[in-house]
Amino acid sequence: MGRRKSKRKPPPRRKLIQNLERQFNCPFCNHERSCDVIMDKLRKIGRIVCRVCQEAFQSQIMALSEPIDVYNDWIDACEETN
Ligand SMILES: [Zn+2]
Repeated sequence: MGRRKSKRKPPPRRKLIQNLERQFNCPFCNHERSCDVIMDKLRKIGRIVCRVCQEAFQSQIMALSEPIDVYNDWIDACEETN
């Protein structure tokens, strides 16, 4: 009886899925996923623009900033104005 040596499976390669959310709900017109974030890392500016109502916002970003950070800044700024 041949004993089958169980083949060791190579460890699954961790895919670096960085499915970064880049589309957010607009706090002005309340459309879902209507706001696109553009990360301008060269100028260290994150811009977010709503495709529906054209509302826009930009904030300073750092090398590690992510679109969600810009969005959060926007929400904060909105709340401050209200
Ligand atoms: Zn909007």
